[in-house]
Formats: sequence, structure tokens, C-alpha cells
Amino acid sequence: MKKALIIGISGQDGAYLSRLLLEKGYEVYGTSRDAEISRFEALRFMNVHNRVQLFSMSLTDFRSILQGLTRSQPDEVYNLAGQSSVGLSFQQPVETFESIAIGTLNLLEAIRFLGKEVRFYNAGSVECFGNADTLVNEASPHQPVSPYGVAKSAAFWQVANYRQAYGLFACSGLLSNHESPLRPERFVTRKIISTACRIARGSAETLTLGNIDIVRDWGWAPEYVDAMWRILQSDEPNDFVIGTGRSYSLREFLDLTFQAVGLNWQGHTTICPELHRPSDIVQSKVDPSKALVKLGWRAEFAMPDLIPLMVASEFAPTRPVGQSEVFSAA
Ligand code: NDP
Repeated sequence: MKKALIIGISGQDGAYLSRLLLEKGYEVYGTSRDAEISRFEALRFMNVHNRVQLFSMSLTDFRSILQGLTRSQPDEVYNLAGQSSVGLSFQQPVETFESIAIGTLNLLEAIRFLGKEVRFYNAGSVECFGNADTLVNEASPHQPVSPYGVAKSAAFWQVANYRQAYGLFACSGLLSNHESPLRPERFVTRKIISTACRIARGSAETLTLGNIDIVRDWGWAPEYVDAMWRILQSDEPNDFVIGTGRSYSLREFLDLTFQAVGLNWQGHTTICPELHRPSDIVQSKVDPSKALVKLGWRAEFAMPDLIPLMVASEFAPTRPVGQSEVFSAA
């Protein structure tokens, strides 16, 4: 039985990845910065909370990383931890850089120090590429435009360097945005979905948004954790851009969401220039063809497919996620 350690297991991707690895027969260990107080709601919602072994680990504390690796003796390490909001990174740039870049460096150094054969996945992001006029792929230059993107880019190059210099089986998945009902409302997609559904149920609130002309490639999170796993099953360590290959504007996302609940967004939305970020990616378009060729991975769900899935979950009675058709879709 293979052992996997998921660092940052309490978030959206941690929950879906836990379920995937358990289904594949892995023994799964997972960490939170403070496992004593973390509620692990996403894991509970997925009905996997009692099937994973949870403990505390801080990526900025080398001793706690060594203890976590020694305790779990993993064959595969998935590092999903770190400050994950682009917007918040403008307000907490140091926390963002430390949790992502210093955290990844500590982890790589600990793996190197222990000398055990471990396959390492780094949760990279297409935010590294910043604004690009053309489709981005693994060879595209990094031009990040946010503290989050800068930190993810630094972590990407650390992983590449440890692979080259020390022969570590270390890989980055440069993932585009991926959504699910487990996304917190801080993220704009879930904010739009949840607010539209509340308005449809009679709430008098108004949805406030920043720039709705940004263009992104939005995918379905359960499919993206499958890409993470496939990356670590490759013969050679490698980096991959992961996305659907289909980009849409936030305006289109907004329009389709309100249509899905029988409303018109114009009557319920206010655009606030104060919500614009100091600098932002205007458009993000990705070319995931390397993942198709080398991993046999391709996204089945693109943005228009996500909306009915996410809206359905807002109206569904609370039930274990693993038993919901919404979550078994991928
Ligand atoms: P989440 O924010 O849902 O989960 C990230 C986890 O990291 C949390 O569960 C939390 O665990 C931990 N964490 C949060 N803030 C900090 C911090 N300041 N310092 C250290 N740890 C922290 O993210 P997702 O599951 O959505 O994403 C997983 C990874 O993939 C992240 O690294 C994200 O940046 C990256 N990514 C995500 C994309 C997406 O669209 N979802 C796109 C591209 C990359 P705890 O509080 O329990 O310690």
C-alpha cells in the first residue's frame, strides 16, 4: 500500500485529493497548521475525515516538517498548503511569500536532508505567467503581476532547481483556476454562485464585484486533483500546465449563473472600482496539450459545465458530499 502525505489537506483540493487517493488504495496522511483546532469541514463533507490520519505541520518550521515526514514515511508528498488568495496576497505579501516560497524551500530541503525516495508535487499556478497575449504553456516566460504569482513563481523555480541539482523527483503542476462547491466565498466564482442563489431564494442583497472583464480558464476541481496524481505517476519528473483550454470572461460567468437561477445579473449587481486589484491579469489562456500527450489527462468540464453543478449544490439539502451526484460527476 502506497503512502501519501497531503500538506494543506483541509482546503478544497485536499478534500478531493484525499478521496481520490483513498479510492486508489493509498494510506493517506494529512496536515493542517493546527490539526487540533482545524475543523476539516471539507474532509467531513466528503465523508473521508475518519479515513485519513491528521496531524499538525507548519511549513515555516523545519522541525515540524522533519517530524511530519518521519512520522508518515510517505512515498508521495502533495504540497497544497499556503496562502491561496491572489486578492489577499496584496494585503499580506510577506505571509504569502513565506507560506508559499519559504514553505516549499523548507520542504524540499527536508526531503533532501532525509534522503528517502519521495515523489513531490508542488501546487503551482498559471498566475506565474501573468498577462500573456497568447496561450501559455510550460515554456512560457514567468511575468507574475501579484505577490501570490511572485511567490508561486519562486516556488516553481525552487522545485526545478532541486530536481536538476539533487535529482529529486519533484514536479510542479501549473494549474489554472478550478472550482467546486468546496471553494470558500472569498473566491469570486463561489461568491457569484452563492449570492445569485440567495437572491433567487428571496434575499434582497446586491452582489458587488470588481473587474468583470477579466478572462480566466475555470475548471472542475475533482478533475484537477486527478492531474496532480498523474503527474507523480510519470516515468520522469516534469512540470505541467493544467487547464481546460477554454477561457471565458467573468461577465460570461456572471451572466450564465444568473440565467441558471432565472434572473438577470444587471438588476442585482454593483460594480465597485474599489474592488479592483492593484494589478491583475487581464486574460489567462492556457494550452494543456502536454498533459494530454504525456499524462493522458484532459478536462471534461469547462466553465459552462461548472455552473449547474455548483448551483445544484447550493440548493441541495446538506448531505455527505461523497454520496452526491454533484461530486461524483468526476
Ligand atoms: P485552499 O485555500 O482551499 O487550501 C490551502 C490550504 O493551505 C488550507 O487548507 C490551509 O490549511 C493552508 N493555508 C492557508 N493559508 C495558509 C498560510 N497563510 N500559511 C500556510 N498554510 C496556509 O486552497 P486550494 O485547495 O484551492 O488550493 C490548493 C493549492 O493549489 C494552493 O497552494 C493554491 O494556491 C494552489 N492553486 C489553487 C488553484 C485553485 O483554483 N484552487 C489554482 C492554482 C493553484 P490549514 O489552515 O489547515 O493549515
